[in-house]
Amino acid sequence: MKIPVNEPVITEASKKYVQEAVETGWISSAGKFIQQFEESFAEFIGTRHAITTTSGTSALHLGLCALNIGPGDEVILPNLTMGACMDAILYTGATPVLVDIERDTFNIDPKQIEAHLSEKTKAIMAVHLFGHSADMDPIRVIAQEHGIAILEDAAEVHGGTYKGRMCGSMGTIGCFSFYGNKIITTGEGGMVVTDNDALAARARSLKDLAHDAAKRFWHKEIGFNYRMTNLQAALGLGQLESVKEFLRHKEWLGQQYTEKLKDIEWLDLPVTREGIGNVYWMYIVLVNDKSKFTRDELRAKLLERGIDTRDIFYPLSDQPFANTSRKDDSYPVSADIAKRGFYLPSGLALTQEQLDYVADTLHSIENT
Ligand SMILES: *Cc1c(COP(=O)(O)O)cnc(C)c1O
Repeated sequence: MKIPVNEPVITEASKKYVQEAVETGWISSAGKFIQQFEESFAEFIGTRHAITTTSGTSALHLGLCALNIGPGDEVILPNLTMGACMDAILYTGATPVLVDIERDTFNIDPKQIEAHLSEKTKAIMAVHLFGHSADMDPIRVIAQEHGIAILEDAAEVHGGTYKGRMCGSMGTIGCFSFYGNKIITTGEGGMVVTDNDALAARARSLKDLAHDAAKRFWHKEIGFNYRMTNLQAALGLGQLESVKEFLRHKEWLGQQYTEKLKDIEWLDLPVTREGIGNVYWMYIVLVNDKSKFTRDELRAKLLERGIDTRDIFYPLSDQPFANTSRKDDSYPVSADIAKRGFYLPSGLALTQEQLDYVADTLHSIENT
C-alpha cells in the first residue's frame, strides 16, 4: 500500500465546468465562472464580498495592501505558520512581529499579543492552522481596543467555524488559498473576503493593475496582476458544490483517527476546543517523550511501510529570510511543536482501508 499525504478530488461538476470554459474559449480572467465562484464563495463564508486572486499568498498581499499597510507599519502574526504569511508582510515593506503559539491549538496565543503591540502596529494576521480556528474573541477585543485591523489567514480552514461563525468572516479581511492540497482547490488560486465595501473595491482595483475606473490604461498607483482565470474558477465552482461532502469527510477523518490512535501513549493527538468546528485540513500528531524514536525516525518508519507524512512548519523566527523587529524574542512553544509535530495522510480521497492501515501501522511500531 502507498498512501500519499494528500490527493485532490476533482469532482464531475468541476470537469464539466472546466470543459465548458475551454470549449467556449473563455480561458482567461473574463468569463462567467469567475463571478459565479466569487458569489458562491461569498455566500458560503457569509461575507458581502469575495474577490478571486492567483494564490493564497497574493490574497494575503492584496489584503494587506487594501488595508494600506506599508513601510513603517508592523503586523503581528504567529511564529508557527507558513512562510507565505511573512512573505506577504515583507512584500509591503512592513515589519512582521512574531508571537508564540498556544500549546493545544498551535494558533497565535492571544495572551501574548498585547506585549507585542506598538504605536506602529496596524494589523494582526490571525492564522487558523491545520483546520482549527484561532481564538478570535480575545483577538477581536485587542484589535478593537487598539483600533487595528484583523486579517484572517483562512487558507487551511475552508468551512471551519468559531462559536458558530465562519473562519474568514470574523476579521476585517479574510484570505483563502486554493492550492492543490487545500480543502477546495483551483490548482493555484486564492480569495479575499470582506464585508467592507471600500476595502473590497480597493482590492478589486489593485488586483487588476489599478486601472482608473473612468479611464482604462490610466493608473494612479501601482497595481498587480492577481487575476484568477475562468478555468480555475470553473474548477473551484465545481468543488464548492461538493463542499458539504468534503467537510463531512474531514469530520469523519478526524473522528476516526482520534478513536483509533487515542491509546498510543507516545503520540499526542490534536485537540478541538469547545465551540470550534475543526475541519482537520491536516491531522497533526506530536511525538511525546514516551517515544524512544524521534519524530523523524518515526516518519522514516512510516515511509518504509508506504505511508507518506509531512513535518510541520519551521518557526518563522528561525527562517533565514526572517526580518523581524524583535529577533531576540524566544518562542519556546513553537520551537517545541515544530520539533515534535507531523501530519498523517489527511486528504479528501483517503479511504477507510487506508486510514485503518495508517492506524494499524502506528500501533505495530514497537516504541516503548
Ligand atoms: C497554503 C497557505 C498559504 C499560501 O497559499 P498559496 O495558495 O500556496 O500561495 C498561506 N497561508 C497558509 C496558512 C497556508 O496554509
